[in-house]
Amino acid sequence: MTDHSAAPKKLFIKTYGCQMNVYDSQRMAEAMGSEGYVLTENQAEADMVLLNTCHIREKAAEKLYSDLGRLKPLKAERPDLKIGVAGCVAQAEGEEIQRRMPLVDLVVGPQAYHRLPAMVRAGGGVDTEFPTEDKFEHLPKAAATRRAPAAFLTVQEGCDKFCAFCVVPYTRGAEVSRPASRILSEARDLVSRGVREITLLGQNVNGWHGEAPQGGEWGFGRLIRAIAEIDGLDRIRYTTSHPNDMADDLIDAHRDEPKLMPYLHLPVQSGSNRILKAMNRKHTVAEYLRLIERIREARPDILLTSDFIVGFPGETDQDHADTLDLVRRVGFGTAFSFKYSPRPGTPAYDRPLIDDAVADARLQELQALLSAQQKAAQESMVGRELSVLFEKPGRLEGQMVGKSDYLHAVFVAAPQARVGDLVRVRITHSAPNSLAGELLAA
Ligand code: SF4
Repeated sequence: MTDHSAAPKKLFIKTYGCQMNVYDSQRMAEAMGSEGYVLTENQAEADMVLLNTCHIREKAAEKLYSDLGRLKPLKAERPDLKIGVAGCVAQAEGEEIQRRMPLVDLVVGPQAYHRLPAMVRAGGGVDTEFPTEDKFEHLPKAAATRRAPAAFLTVQEGCDKFCAFCVVPYTRGAEVSRPASRILSEARDLVSRGVREITLLGQNVNGWHGEAPQGGEWGFGRLIRAIAEIDGLDRIRYTTSHPNDMADDLIDAHRDEPKLMPYLHLPVQSGSNRILKAMNRKHTVAEYLRLIERIREARPDILLTSDFIVGFPGETDQDHADTLDLVRRVGFGTAFSFKYSPRPGTPAYDRPLIDDAVADARLQELQALLSAQQKAAQESMVGRELSVLFEKPGRLEGQMVGKSDYLHAVFVAAPQARVGDLVRVRITHSAPNSLAGELLAA
């Protein structure tokens, strides 16, 4: 039995990487709450430090080992401090982590978080299995406290696409969709605790196809329609999508469902058919552009964002020019672009790299174009009336900051407003990474 009579123990979680990891960290914090742990922002006072790692960025394992190295003095001072490693690097490295860093008490892969409390009780261990049960069902729910007005909800995990550069199919495993009834009950629970906006998460979120509440199977568009029926929920978003999973029903939901926000992150990675093939993306440039056209027919004001990898092995000047051309043709609201770096265990790992200086120059050129498009997209909001969901107070007295329908941060003078208010705002000004607006009468 857990001793809840003692003073709460403190848990410090450092989260690297994507929104899935942010969500997982929240759920692990809730699970550890049932073991008497409360979150702290101060690592020095923690009884347990959990590093929730990400394998997407370059040198993820090296970064973990150097972070662990920095924890050595704290562990030497307080040997009872528990140190855990979670996430995709935990999955990929497994027991190697404890072999190289004996100060680590436990290593838990992304599919085994529900076993974290038991591991802590047992004093540690390594668990990187892919169990068949739904880990989220086995994670204790948080006490019924109020939540921030915007929350994440994982509906799908893993990936079967095997893009040549990506570790996700190896670290997160095959695609698994949670049943609709569990997602709906978690969404209702979030709304009952003050959440007004839910972002559905998955590595291939739009590939979700799960058991319907009354039996049979639903696709992702149908799931969104069911979630939209929840009273008190105002906004739905989802990320991250694969172009090949943009089913007709989902595109229709963008046309018909007002709660589905006009924002879509749809990674394309390259604008060259040759490179798309080498990346094993399984679609062409023309198919992507046609898809964008159909999405814009359904929802003309949709703001599109994307991911790009620059300098993939074999990329020529012409391939790069094709990527710039695609960017010009689509016009993105924002996009993430990275220089290619090989990940161990992926099909592209051993392919010869292109010249580093050339890759750097191409990245700069692409980023300059994308920044110009981002600026133009933001400036096009000036003068428009948008809804803004206030998420926190701004830096100035009486100021609030929230997100617009298009996910831009908007600062508004609103002394009477509270976090969680959904208000109408006229956009007055565009700054580099945010907008300013004035409150309109309700
Ligand atoms: S679709 Fe490709 S990039 Fe996305 S998670 Fe799957 S393998 Fe990785």
